[in-house]
Amino acid sequence: MSGNFLALAQPGVQQLSPYVPGKPVDELARELDLDPASIIKLASNENPLGASPKVLAAIREALDELTRYPDGNGFALKSLLAEQCRVEIDQVTLGNGSNDILELVARAYLAPGLNTVFSEHAFAVYPIATQAVGAQAKVVPAKDWGHDLPAMLAAIDANTRVVFIANPNNPTGTWFDAEALDEFLQDVPEHVLVVLDEAYIEYAEGSDDMPDGLDFLAAYPNLLVSRTFSKAYGLASLRVGYGLSTPVVADVLNRVRQPFNVNSLALAAACAAVKDDEYLAESRRLNEAGMQQLEAGFRELGLSWIPSRGNFICVDIGREAAPIFQGLLREGVIVRPVANYGMPNHLRITIGLPAENSRFLEALTKVLARG
Ligand SMILES: *Cc1c(COP(=O)(O)O)cnc(C)c1O
Repeated sequence: MSGNFLALAQPGVQQLSPYVPGKPVDELARELDLDPASIIKLASNENPLGASPKVLAAIREALDELTRYPDGNGFALKSLLAEQCRVEIDQVTLGNGSNDILELVARAYLAPGLNTVFSEHAFAVYPIATQAVGAQAKVVPAKDWGHDLPAMLAAIDANTRVVFIANPNNPTGTWFDAEALDEFLQDVPEHVLVVLDEAYIEYAEGSDDMPDGLDFLAAYPNLLVSRTFSKAYGLASLRVGYGLSTPVVADVLNRVRQPFNVNSLALAAACAAVKDDEYLAESRRLNEAGMQQLEAGFRELGLSWIPSRGNFICVDIGREAAPIFQGLLREGVIVRPVANYGMPNHLRITIGLPAENSRFLEALTKVLARG
């Protein structure tokens, strides 16, 4: 008799729902027999700008070394990040996407009997990282779609080791200000590591009510700030992210990571991207304009939305959104349903190029008119 290898998986893994990514363009093209070039995807918070020429040049140069292992310490990139983020190099941890950082934290600090605290409507990777190592997830009800930081604080108990907070949050786009963050950090027990996920911070930087997590690192040794090259820097396919923390936490994460967790093309690309202010500025400009374009479109359609500081926005369809998602697919427009985030009436739209945003709004108008 063969073993039941589902029942043999550790209990947390048996109960895991795998991450559901945005629908790939090629898959929809196959299903509907459409030309892939006619499809637009606004489903995965990808940067619509395309790769920066400086990044492409850096990758081409790195190709010559493809037979060599990458620099396992990522010295060049860590040096650049340390300088940019005003920290020491031993405070930087590189990850295969910032997803990797979240998993390293879980592997290093969690185990059965311990728990994590995070918000309702938070990023789907938090429950996955928690359950994969047999720890328990304590999900705190959201307030106005955003994090209820006082309630999250109250949910922390003696077995809590990690709190995941995202600012801005995905998928809701909600955010909290520096005062709220500071009050929260002041009250979090010292034994709890606070992971402040700033995957979208580059889109929000400079606004008065958006804290920069780096400003809090010196005061709070239990803080880890995670950031990524996948969004505003436009390197989603290469998988590079980083964590900033005390050297002790960085040392712990370094013990559990794969020796070569960031590949050499990704390292070269990220080094070029950090210095590419022009690309970042253009990403921001495009995002701001696109956000206004979508908001104006929603207003015209009489739809409400959740104000967002990310490169995406959740629109309220006012009823179950799944049929509208399906209708949009038939128009060749892929957006993201968020029912699995407890938001059955919303759709999440990634800000695209102006023409993509228009095309989405036209398709939405058409699909809504059909009823
Ligand atoms: C996209 C995203 C990430 C980053 O993912 P990568 O692994 O860096 O591509 C992290 N956190 C949130 C909330 C995100 O939306």
